[in-house]
Amino acid sequence: MVLDAVLPPLCLGCGEIVGEPGGLCSVCWRRFSFVSAPYCACCGTPFTQDLGPDALCTACLVRRPRFRRARAALIYDDRSRRLILPFKHGDRTDVARACGRWMARAGAELLATADLVAPVPLHWRRLFTRRYNQAALLARVALSEEISTSGARLAPDLLRRGRWTGSQSGLTGQERRRNVREAFELHPRWQAAIAGKRILLVDDVLTTGATVEACVRVLQRAGAAEVDVLTLARVVRPAL
Ligand SMILES: [Zn+2]
Ligand SMILES: [Zn+2]
Repeated sequence: MVLDAVLPPLCLGCGEIVGEPGGLCSVCWRRFSFVSAPYCACCGTPFTQDLGPDALCTACLVRRPRFRRARAALIYDDRSRRLILPFKHGDRTDVARACGRWMARAGAELLATADLVAPVPLHWRRLFTRRYNQAALLARVALSEEISTSGARLAPDLLRRGRWTGSQSGLTGQERRRNVREAFELHPRWQAAIAGKRILLVDDVLTTGATVEACVRVLQRAGAAEVDVLTLARVVRPAL
């Protein structure tokens, strides 16, 4: 891009000048909470101690999520929220490139086994006001990263949103699940192509998992072999 050659690259966290575009300065790099092992083999919740590669968190032991594995690049906190919000509501597509790189690293295992990579869809009304689906953008950049060795195909229209579900904020986990249960449907064009496929769903933030689980349910009904989830950030609740 022409602008890249004129303007010095700036840190995505604080705006300081950095060595290369789409990066973080050393201070921000330490302050961002990247998810790292050990974590729950299923949902990816970080553990404070290493319990082995197959260990599950208490929540997954009590109720196993519908997806096989969920991984995220960042823990959702004040700092990552400040990075994600302007990107979510504005035009910071430059941030997406860096985020896609982090996601490709966090989800390398998932990308390697996926047949199809699909974003969690936005309802058309939200798509209209926000102009683009950040999950679709993240799915594309994560898949295009040079460190991704995936042979997966991008399926941006795999799922679509039916019923308008409104905002999910302020609802309990159970309310969220009820709200989104029937909100997604498979695009008819993919109906016959899902059976036996391994699918990687991409979203920006994993909160309770209700939204992605509603998507997983639709894909499983259509015969998907397994469904993984990759997000830019995830909410981590203190362990009980
Ligand atoms: Zn910085
Ligand atoms: Zn778990």
